[in-house]
Amino acid sequence: MLSLLTSCATSRSAPGARHEFTRPEMGLPFRIVLYAPDRLTATAAAEAAFARIHELNDVFSDYEYDSELSRLSRTAGSGQKVPVSEDLWRVLEQAQALAKRSDGAFDITVGPYVSLWRRARRLQRLPTPEWLERARAAVGYQHLRLDRRHHTAELLVPNMRLDLGAIAKGYAVEAAMTILRERGIRSALVGGGGDMAASGPPPGKKGWRIAVAPLDVPGAPPPRHVWLSHRAIATSGDLSQRLEIDGKRYSHIVDPKTGLGLTHHTLVTVIARDCTTADAMATTVSVLGQEGGVAFVKRIQGLAVHLVGQPADRIETEEAGGFARFYEVDANRP
Ligand code: ADP
Ligand code: MG
Repeated sequence: MLSLLTSCATSRSAPGARHEFTRPEMGLPFRIVLYAPDRLTATAAAEAAFARIHELNDVFSDYEYDSELSRLSRTAGSGQKVPVSEDLWRVLEQAQALAKRSDGAFDITVGPYVSLWRRARRLQRLPTPEWLERARAAVGYQHLRLDRRHHTAELLVPNMRLDLGAIAKGYAVEAAMTILRERGIRSALVGGGGDMAASGPPPGKKGWRIAVAPLDVPGAPPPRHVWLSHRAIATSGDLSQRLEIDGKRYSHIVDPKTGLGLTHHTLVTVIARDCTTADAMATTVSVLGQEGGVAFVKRIQGLAVHLVGQPADRIETEEAGGFARFYEVDANRP
């Protein structure tokens, strides 16, 4: 049955009709657009996809006391090797691989820093050096040990807290898309926040038309659009959750090297083959900054990145990995 929170709009077009659903999950609106032969098929598929996202929130949430992730974090420093579910295993494994590859720019053990930042935002005051020092002792991806054979995780240091905020949403979007595919839906778009996955194009189209998030400052160029099919896109670094103290703006993305929120404001959009990768990479490139981020992306196959920032008075845009090939073709151009 459709919940009251789900809205559904349908318009007819051959061969399948377009159906759209939205539902709050993981603390933000998730949206599914799909083409299906009839409304019953569409609704059943969307319901199954939302149910899968909901189930994943019970695994990945760092807000819910009883999530699998929270339970794992509470074993920190106890010497326990904790068996983890298949979903959590996949995310932990991918997160650790990226942590190594990015030399710790991406790090899911930043939980203690993130807690300090949430507090700082409430108090409108920076964390004290003592608090940062205390948190630092419980941060570092090297302190998370995974056993590939037994699928167990061990948090080696007391007070560690895992935070999947930069990767779980992408995984959930990807998992929802898998459910749709299993139900025979060939053409769909799934989005949660700044993360989106597209499967086959809508009937008669070459892809899904998606706006690349523009920088939220006066004078920023209007958004351009990309056409995507069988690709995912994620944006990171927007300032909606920023903290402003003494005129300085700090992002909710933390540089694990300093423990502080980023102060360089680069909006990063990544296109990848799957949404887990797109989500995690967008955060990683944000931490690495314009120069380091572009160099990093160039070393990795199958990634395209678009960065826009305002280091001084000028708005600067940079792209790598062939991002431009996804732009819509200008119809007025010869
Ligand atoms: P959003 O949540 O706005 O989509 P991101 O995907 O970039 O943005 O995720 C940001 C979240 O990731 C933060 O709120 C925090 O929970 C977590 N995080 C912060 N810094 C890091 C980091 N250096 N590595 C991994 N995760 C981080
Ligand atoms: Mg991310």
